Parts: sequence; C-alpha cells; structure tokens
Amino acid sequence: MRCKMIRSRIESKCVEINRDPDSVKLLLATKTVEPDRIKQALASGINYIGENKIQELKRKRPELDTENVKFHFIGHLQTNKIKDAIQFSDCIESVDRIHLVEALDKELQKQSRSQDILIQVNTSYEESKFGISPEEAISFVKKISTYGTLKVKGLMTIGIFKAEKEKIRKCFHLLSSIANEIKELGLPNTDMGILSMGMSHDFETAIEEGSTLVRIGTAIFGERIYPDSYYWDEKMHVL
Ligand SMILES: *Cc1c(COP(=O)(O)O)cnc(C)c1O
Repeated sequence: MRCKMIRSRIESKCVEINRDPDSVKLLLATKTVEPDRIKQALASGINYIGENKIQELKRKRPELDTENVKFHFIGHLQTNKIKDAIQFSDCIESVDRIHLVEALDKELQKQSRSQDILIQVNTSYEESKFGISPEEAISFVKKISTYGTLKVKGLMTIGIFKAEKEKIRKCFHLLSSIANEIKELGLPNTDMGILSMGMSHDFETAIEEGSTLVRIGTAIFGERIYPDSYYWDEKMHVL
C-alpha cells in the first residue's frame, strides 16, 4: 500500500505551488477493496473513504466506522437508494439532477434532517459520465440553495480520461471557475469549501487547479478487476 507515497506527492506539489499541504485532503476510493486492507490504509492517518455503490457502502461502513473517518458516496445515485444513501453517507458527492434533488429533499424533510452534498459536474462533456452540464450548474445550485435540507459543500468532477494533460487541466479549471462564480453569489445553504477533483493519474494537475479533495484508488490499492465504466455507466452490467 502506498498511502505515504501519495501523501508525500500531494505535499510536494503543494509546496511547489505555494499551497498549504493541509488544504488538500486525501480520500480513499475503496470500491472492491475489502475492509481489512482499507483499515491498513486508514492507519496511516487518512480520514475520508469514498464508495461508489450503496450496497458496498452499507456493508463496509459498520466495519470501518470511527469518529475520525468520513464516508463519501462518489458513485451514481439512483433514487430508489436514497434512504440508504442518507443513512450511510456523511457527504453525497454525486448530486447531478433535479429529480434526485427532489427525492432527497422529500426524504430529508420526512426525517427532519439535512444532508451535506457536492454537485457533480460533467466537465469533460463525455456522454458516459454523469454530472450536470457546466452550463446548467449555477442555476442548479441556486435552486438547491432554496431547499434548506441540502447543504451544498462544493463541487465534484471526473476529469476527461486518456487525454493529454492540458485537456484534463481544462476540466479542472472549469470546475474551479464555476465554484468561484457560485461563491460570489453568496447563496444560502451553500459554500464552495470542497473541490473534489483528481484521481490516481491526474491528481497533481487537479491540485494545481485548486482541488481540495483528491480521490485515489488504484495508486494506493492497485488495479481493480472491473473496468471503471462499470461504476460510471448505469447501462453497463459487468456483474
Ligand atoms: C474509482 C474512482 C476514483 C479513483 O480512481 P483511481 O483511478 O483508481 O484513483 C475516483 N473517483 C471516482 C468517482 C471513482 O469512481
């Protein structure tokens, strides 16, 4: 496991560009990784876990729960899973459509509670990726800010895949600029403290563009047996 190595790459990058190393948090993307191995990684002082499937989150969280660890849901959220999503996620990073927002609001009202969320933006414009379009993101957040049950903590994106660095950078740059525009609106129930962007192959570029939360799987745990499209594309059923 390579948590220390990743943490030190994050720190070097921050030092290089004059950012405070503590301003970038490391989230373990733990899909397919069993709790024993996740525990070893957590022992190196990591405080965030991200899961892509509600069933997996529900199964693993009880084994991993400690006060210091926050669980983020980073996969595509179907409306029939929102009860469990609310129960098991400290933050849902993948809110991307009004239908889902309405369903979450309804359930949260019923339970008289609120939920931290991020808005997933499709900055690469790839059809296979979920996320609200960059053009719709601001009006989407404005709408959500009127609900009260949903606390928008920032934005999330997945950079374009298998592309040149500069194309990847463009995605991250776009997310940062949308966050800045939203910040200036001073909306209720909204702050832009979290910019969740950057994965194993592109986290250093993401940090250069202002990421505050990098989501790392492969570079820490090794290759997975299922293709990533399984986690990102509802139409694909590998299992
Ligand atoms: C799997 C996954 C990651 C981590 O990807 P790696 O390339 O393994 O680091 C990050 N974000 C999301 C949404 C993921 O599904």
